Amino acid sequence: MRSHAIPCLALFSFIAAQTLCATVTAPADLLPPAPAWHGASEALVAKADNPWITPAEKMQLLDSPNYADTIAWLRQLADASPLIDLQEFGRTPQGRPLYVVVATKEKFPTPPALRTSGKPTLLAQGGIHSGEIDGKDAGLMLLRDIAFGGKDALLDHANFLFVPVFNADGHERSSEWNRPNQRGPVHQGWRTTAQNLNLNRDYVKADSPEMRAMLRLIQTWAPSLYLDLHVTDGIDYQYDITYGYNGWNGFTSWSPQGSTWLEKYFRPAVDGALQQSGHIPGPLIMAINNRDLTAGIVGGNGDPRFSTGYGDLRHLPSVLLENHSLKPYPQRVLGTYIFIESALAAVGAHAAELTAAIAADNTARPAEIPANWGDGGGPVTKMDFLGIAYEEFVSPASGVKEVRWLGTPKLYKDLPIIGDKPGVILQRPKAYYVPATESDVIAVLAAHGVRMETLAEPRTVEAEFYRLTDVKTATEPFEGHYTLTADVKPERRTETFPAGSVRITTDQPLGELAVVMLEPQSRDSLLAWGFFNEVLQRTEYIEGYVVAPMAEKMLADSPPLKAEFEAKLAADEKFAKDPTARLQWFYARSKFYDERYLLYPVGLER
Ligand SMILES: [Zn+2]
Repeated sequence: MRSHAIPCLALFSFIAAQTLCATVTAPADLLPPAPAWHGASEALVAKADNPWITPAEKMQLLDSPNYADTIAWLRQLADASPLIDLQEFGRTPQGRPLYVVVATKEKFPTPPALRTSGKPTLLAQGGIHSGEIDGKDAGLMLLRDIAFGGKDALLDHANFLFVPVFNADGHERSSEWNRPNQRGPVHQGWRTTAQNLNLNRDYVKADSPEMRAMLRLIQTWAPSLYLDLHVTDGIDYQYDITYGYNGWNGFTSWSPQGSTWLEKYFRPAVDGALQQSGHIPGPLIMAINNRDLTAGIVGGNGDPRFSTGYGDLRHLPSVLLENHSLKPYPQRVLGTYIFIESALAAVGAHAAELTAAIAADNTARPAEIPANWGDGGGPVTKMDFLGIAYEEFVSPASGVKEVRWLGTPKLYKDLPIIGDKPGVILQRPKAYYVPATESDVIAVLAAHGVRMETLAEPRTVEAEFYRLTDVKTATEPFEGHYTLTADVKPERRTETFPAGSVRITTDQPLGELAVVMLEPQSRDSLLAWGFFNEVLQRTEYIEGYVVAPMAEKMLADSPPLKAEFEAKLAADEKFAKDPTARLQWFYARSKFYDERYLLYPVGLER
């Protein structure tokens, strides 16, 4: 790790190198101390003479192989084992194939065979943030042990899909300098894709080819549990393997039966296995204040832009794993192995309950759908938190008190967990009409597998529409979009939807997903992501020499209008002094005005 100085010396003259290298320090030198760790899971590491030793094991789990070496090893394993198949499921923007490993005892490793196998399928995904790559190296070890290490019984009651690296382009933007808060591997990939998109914000809008491929994979193979494998940043604590899902700790979720299955069967099985192997499992930990732990941690739900929120919304139980970045890479990889293995065992052992939970969530049709998690204000619970002691010091750099973690365990009794409350409650209509003119909106809904009826002929319907009010557009781009927020004012209208428009019934398993994508007040609605920005612009105008005499006539013809105008002048001094605004006031009340301005073009059947 000390060899970080070498590139500087190689690139610059000695004096220049001294100046530059004095400003950078090897990442390991900056990290707080890691408590020594040993656990039973260390026995999982293959011996040097094992012909199926993985590339990372060959490097003592200190480094991680590149994409080509990872796939080459998996291809060899698939060629040698009848239980393992390697399949391409998409391409990245830079042209790399995306692979899924299919591990099954079914005769044919095909979607129909798995869907009709009577066994639930676990989908585990590594490297959505490809610097957080523990999942890849753990998955390779587990697949080896399923194929040749006596663990094939894991496939007796479950199938296993494994995506080793979801963000394959980011994985190859590899460096020793990518994740300063993380203790190994030596080479780490980059968080975002080659299009600088964060895949774990892309689940709903699905801009990236990687996400489009993942949405197809989910629909094609119909998994029953989805594991999204990460490494976290943030504060120091004793837990090495932290994870969570919407609806944990009794919070509400979009798939209450799925959340109950996770609470009742998944968490006890996984926690037990991790503890027996020497790991310390804990909940997802996001401190309210990274400089003051006693303020508590947020125990919130994920919006559907994230994997866990998305899975919850489409009734696919989904778990976010966040290994603790300050724990050494070998410890994290071994914990991930136990995590995936025990998840696969739990899926098999409680298959009937899992299938029943998903079926119940798929057939529930809640009239009210919460959205916009993370606004806080929910129920507060407490936990005894296995923390790490810290001291404070005044940093000359920040000018305020910063935290220095000391590496020694410390128990925080009764630490508050601040629960979540939805920011808005959406009402479920019977159906939506999306006009054919919104082809990108229809395409992304279809990419999610939302069922829709495409109109072969124009259809005239009387429906509810929204007039957007209080539209606020972001001033900074986010994930390639200028997002916006808006309120709505409903109005009844009769509209003709041209052929090619779609009617989307909400009486379907993805009904809640359609609601969250199509109700403007939802933070992850397509409107909020900027898919309807064209309706925010007025495109026809009126000249003062036309509107001024027209206004005079309107005032003369309508005493109520005159009264309204005079009241407005009296109440609004700014308006009274603004000639253009005064004329616009009349224009907006005339027949010339664009009556479609700020009209959200999606119709609702209540
Ligand atoms: Zn991550």
